[in-house]
Amino acid sequence: MSKIQMTTPIVEMDGDEMTRILWKMIKETLILPYVDLKSEYYDLALLNRNATEDQVTVDAANAIKKYGVGVKCATITPNKQRMVEYPQLTKMWKSPNGTIRSILDGTVFRTPIIIPAIRPVVRNWERPITIARHAYGDVYKAVDMYTHEPGECTMTFKGESGAEQTLVVQKVDGPAVWQGAHNKEKSIRSFAKSCFTYAIATKQDLWFSTKDTIAKVYDGAFKTIFEEEFENYRAKFEELGLTYFYTLIDDAVARVIRSKGGFIWACKNYDGDVMSDMVSTAFGSLAMMTSVLISPDGPMEFEAAHGTVTKHYYRHLKGEATSTNPMATIFAWTGALKKRGELDNLPELVKFSEKLEAACLATLNDGIMTGDLVNLVEPGFKATKVNSQEFLEAIKKHLEA
Ligand code: NAP
Ligand code: MG
Repeated sequence: MSKIQMTTPIVEMDGDEMTRILWKMIKETLILPYVDLKSEYYDLALLNRNATEDQVTVDAANAIKKYGVGVKCATITPNKQRMVEYPQLTKMWKSPNGTIRSILDGTVFRTPIIIPAIRPVVRNWERPITIARHAYGDVYKAVDMYTHEPGECTMTFKGESGAEQTLVVQKVDGPAVWQGAHNKEKSIRSFAKSCFTYAIATKQDLWFSTKDTIAKVYDGAFKTIFEEEFENYRAKFEELGLTYFYTLIDDAVARVIRSKGGFIWACKNYDGDVMSDMVSTAFGSLAMMTSVLISPDGPMEFEAAHGTVTKHYYRHLKGEATSTNPMATIFAWTGALKKRGELDNLPELVKFSEKLEAACLATLNDGIMTGDLVNLVEPGFKATKVNSQEFLEAIKKHLEA
């Protein structure tokens, strides 16, 4: 069988720990035998980020801008403990995902992979719920401080024109904590555009929620900007029979729980961070959550939502064949290959990606699963725990059939 040819490279970003091991296994077992893979490789392993002073991350993000499609393995974001574990680190490097997100100014869309044998905790959810998380600003770019005596805190904006605006944040009678957060109109507009574009691309309704009854100016701006941007997409939404609907976040959480699923829920940065963990857990396993970063100008970066699965990596180093779930990482690859195929008009590559996804689902539907899933299956379904390599081999059998 001749391999499927590609014309433009995919930006391939390797990562750390157990997911780095899976990355290689997935490529060797499920991709390289079938696709003449063209990729521009960036090694985002922690020690290489350290050796390049994180330039490799910036280069990878710029390459995604250039080529339009990237696929990323999970990476370690160093903390104090990692500084001890890797004494050669010269700095507590920032999260690569944060760096890439700020260069692409994108929105992160997370969608669970669902199978009949695993029912969501919320019984009425029949279809996946996609969380669209704004990936810029708010508490993630906030400054904060602790003060220790009575006093007053003000907030001043100094315009380049010389104009100033000052607000009293609060007068306090004792020690207090403070936080200054911001967002940019441009970023909120990009967020809105990415959400409307993705809703149209995937033919799903879009919900958006904030707390604009309390944060009247801050969250109110999000609501208004979404309304303004929607006018550019309204006709397309109507043509496809799709709905855009804004509601208060309190109302949204209640409606999401009562819903049947099958829509996109756009959330501000913090809401999206927390809600995506809740939604993915309710659907089953973090290892089944896919993630794609979409830039308003079009480039896309595909990854798994989970981390580097450190505990499994230490077992792997001791020689154990771990039962780590590769599903979300495989779907990152299929998402990237499919997108590349669409952009370059390579129907064979699109078809291959779809067949590989179908083979993954068929394997799970046979009851062949990794350890994280076996305990979640409904009574009446069979489930056998296999290790990661056995799981990949079972997928390969389906793919070849
Ligand atoms: P994690 O790697 O997602 O793992 C947390 C736990 O979830 C694991 O110990 C495992 O539970 C389960 N799990 C996650 N993915 C799994 C999979 N594919 N198969 C089976 N079980 C899976 O999160 P973490 O331990 O908090 O973080 C580890 C490292 O990843 C950190 O250094 C963090 O900075 C990094 N991280 C990277 C990204 C990213 O690059 N996108 C995202 C999050 C975290 P059991 O141990 O119970 O089996
Ligand atoms: Mg989170």
